[in-house]
Amino acid sequence: MTYFLKPRNLAFAFSEVWSDSDKILEKSEIDSLWEEYWTKHGENIVLETWNRLYCDYILSENNESVISNEKEESILEEDHKSDWESLWSDHWTQQQYYVYSVFKENYHAEFDPSLVEITLEEDFKRKLGLPTSFIGRGEKTNNKNEEQLSNSEEETLKNLGLPTQFSGKNSRGVYLEDFSESEEEEMDETDKIKTGRVKKKNKNRRGRNQKIPEYIQKNQSLLRYWKKRFSLFSRFDEGIRLDEESWYSVTPENVASQLAKRINCNIIVDAFCGCGGNSIQFAKSGKRVISIDIDEGKILKAKHNAKVYKVDDKIDFIVGDFLKIYKDLKGIDAIFLSPPWGGIDYKKSAEYDIETQLQPIGASLLFEKCREITDNIAIFLPRNSDTKQIVRLAGVGKKTEIEKNFLDRRFVGITAFFGGLIKS
Ligand code: SAH
Repeated sequence: MTYFLKPRNLAFAFSEVWSDSDKILEKSEIDSLWEEYWTKHGENIVLETWNRLYCDYILSENNESVISNEKEESILEEDHKSDWESLWSDHWTQQQYYVYSVFKENYHAEFDPSLVEITLEEDFKRKLGLPTSFIGRGEKTNNKNEEQLSNSEEETLKNLGLPTQFSGKNSRGVYLEDFSESEEEEMDETDKIKTGRVKKKNKNRRGRNQKIPEYIQKNQSLLRYWKKRFSLFSRFDEGIRLDEESWYSVTPENVASQLAKRINCNIIVDAFCGCGGNSIQFAKSGKRVISIDIDEGKILKAKHNAKVYKVDDKIDFIVGDFLKIYKDLKGIDAIFLSPPWGGIDYKKSAEYDIETQLQPIGASLLFEKCREITDNIAIFLPRNSDTKQIVRLAGVGKKTEIEKNFLDRRFVGITAFFGGLIKS
């Protein structure tokens, strides 16, 4: 099965360039808008669909029962099982064709939603009128000048209204590029961004032979988190350790890293550190960190995980109840709070009550304690938290700054900043 983003999601992704789509545009204008769009977002779109599709493949190698779709298995077995490079190239090409077709159709006001139903690559190409033997991104062009499309291929693209050239210093045809490993290494960063290439070596192969822990195999909902393990910790396969509860509660790495850069201070307390998602990123951003958790097992894992990221020398770990030991914390600049949200049921209520649902105590009481040591506080909360309650935490006449945290396009939570951590 081939996975494509739903047109609805793409429409959202395109909203930036579609803002004045009522205007009749020349084909060259559409193509240049497309070039700009794909250079900026292509890699993310391809990676998102890649991660969704091939996470299943990784799982299928470890656990036969996880995959039930026979078609999916047979395609992978027949064509690509041992050839991730070629899988990646095919995937890139398919996604690019698809996204371009949706993009282009919008300007012609005749978008055909049935495109998403197409599951097989060959069908997909036929539908778009492309020759099924069309050379995809990353395939070898052997006897040809690699910089150029053959006449017939260029003709086909022109007839289809597809661009024959994509961005990049040398205006190479992306579809026919040969991404040999050595050439890839020679490219400078700007080239990579402009040509939409990504360093695929590690991304493609990572985690391939990783064994799924038994407790995860037994729990279907945990399996969903296992698939996302690299968004929790990009170095997951270097030995990251998590307990069952932490799979649900760890802050995804990109979110934690953005927060760490956003918070400007020297010494920070991570009062509910869990297995270290936030602490590691605070340390990586150059801070000295005091990481506290009531659960010794989690502190041991956090310590180990910090070693994986080579930041263990920047973190002091304490096993203890933050509510009891907070007064002993001296000389710190800020406190980061990511207390338990009370299980995954938090999503069910329309509005999350930070005074009654947050663990181990309500937000106001927690803030009262924190303010005995500093006013500089940040708290990570569910995305559906009651904003009025958050504003009230600031106190009369004082401000708060609320940031929405997204992982790709998924709204994962909000962070509220208080005291000196407010930026604007
Ligand atoms: N931010 C962490 C996840 C935190 S989950 C990460 O990204 O990895 C919340 C944590 O708070 C849990 O690990 C839980 O053990 C801890 N906790 C709960 N009550 C506590 C208390 N009174 N003092 C310190 N830690 C507590």
